[in-house]
Amino acid sequence: MTSTADAYDTTPEDLAGWLRSLDLAQTVGGIDIAGAGAADVVYPVTEEVIARAPMGDPETADAAIAAAATAFATWARTPWAERRAALQRFADALERDAVELATVVTAETGRPLRRALGEVFGGAIYVRTVAAVPPFEKTVPHPRSRIRMNHRPLGVVAAIAPWNGPVILAVVKIATALLAGNTIVLKPSEFSPLSALLFGRIGREAFPPGVCNIVTGGPEVGARLTSHPAVAKISFTGSTATGRRIGQTAAGNLARATLELGGNDPAIVLPDADLEQFVEVTTQMSLANAGAFCSAIKRAYVHEDVLDEVVDRFDARLRRLTWGDAFDRATDLTPVQNRPQYERVLGFVDDAVAAGGTLHGTGRHPMTRGYFVEPSVVTGLARDHRLVVEEQFGPILPLLPFRDLDDVVAEADSGPYGLGASVWSADEDRAVDIAESLQVGTVWVNQHGAFEAGIPMPMAKDSGLGIDYAEYGVAEHSQAVVINIA
Ligand code: NAD
Repeated sequence: MTSTADAYDTTPEDLAGWLRSLDLAQTVGGIDIAGAGAADVVYPVTEEVIARAPMGDPETADAAIAAAATAFATWARTPWAERRAALQRFADALERDAVELATVVTAETGRPLRRALGEVFGGAIYVRTVAAVPPFEKTVPHPRSRIRMNHRPLGVVAAIAPWNGPVILAVVKIATALLAGNTIVLKPSEFSPLSALLFGRIGREAFPPGVCNIVTGGPEVGARLTSHPAVAKISFTGSTATGRRIGQTAAGNLARATLELGGNDPAIVLPDADLEQFVEVTTQMSLANAGAFCSAIKRAYVHEDVLDEVVDRFDARLRRLTWGDAFDRATDLTPVQNRPQYERVLGFVDDAVAAGGTLHGTGRHPMTRGYFVEPSVVTGLARDHRLVVEEQFGPILPLLPFRDLDDVVAEADSGPYGLGASVWSADEDRAVDIAESLQVGTVWVNQHGAFEAGIPMPMAKDSGLGIDYAEYGVAEHSQAVVINIA
């Protein structure tokens, strides 16, 4: 699989043989480690098993932590510039092998190849952006002492990733932990293990043995990693329920933890907003992508004067989305990634219809198999319907009319989550005023979900703990030390 053209020629029938030929294994101490068992990997477009992935167990997690602890002694003393150069080599290798990696992402997520390529190249950019962060060095003005402050590595980082961004969410954890001088054991989701196994292997070209370890497995392996006394720092991305459990365990060990959890991002659409732009961004980011984005717009409060127009625009836009195999260049739509989530999303759709909601944009579902849910927007729901107050993580979006701005700000802020929000208006000053009153980590104005590794990502309320990305992420993976000279 060397060229994009080859990848687009892939048929689901070729895929299984090609994946088998990769002979993927976990990476511990710089070498292949076979699974203690194996699990099926399903192509969400057809629901066929396309691979058996090696799965680690708690003992594999222990071995990986031991390898990471051994490697830490040398990596922590490796100069910053050399650690940065290693990350740049990792980014080079990700780009060189992008087609292969994107094909694996498409196989395990069902995401159209074009989107998967975007994630892999985006991942390489994230790694380069983190690599550019300079070492922290600060002097603190004081009348009697000379005070210096700098950062030291923490130790072994246990990193746990979800299935919805199997490359980007994992490689940014690796880059952040390693630049700061830590070593890492990363566990991908049991629903999307293949890409991590592949970039674990790619990482061996860039990092010394034991610096970057990849183990697979489900909650029991994740729990072993995050409760291990030799782990100094936990970097977790996933649901709020799991994050809460991990936070409780981390507290027992006083391990540091960055927790990036669920969200229920609201969009507030004022009557003077660019409605075409709002509908396009929401369609591309949330609906065509099966809603599988932590900071997707998950509820939209639309001024009552423009609600009908927004509905009409969504209706027309969603009907133009193209369905098909993920290796077909024309395909826009991503299926839901796994069966439990597929059933959960269908439950939201059924509940919305049962509650008298009206679905818009539907009526073209041509797929006879696969975890496809027809993207839609819903009107006519009560403000406390579960599709409004819970995180659906699927391609169904409630639209709620509003008249009074104060009321809608209070409503947008209600509920436990605080990941992101957006305000849409031609009047930027007014939009920024509203943005400043919202209790979330990031508020976008006339855009949504625009993350980059150079832009800090703070978590608020039940959407997590800490700040990731940029120098803030590196600082959170470091121990601050003050030198106070008389
Ligand atoms: P999940 O919490 O079910 O699983 C995430 C990871 O945690 C998996 O690797 C899983 O094996 C592991 N895990 C499960 N139980 C564990 C335990 N007890 N101890 C340690 N590890 C354990 O989440 P998911 O369904 O894979 O992901 C979807 C969720 O992730 C959504 O809520 C989404 O909003 C959130 N998410 C958040 C961000 C963010 O940056 N805030 C980004 C992406 C996804």
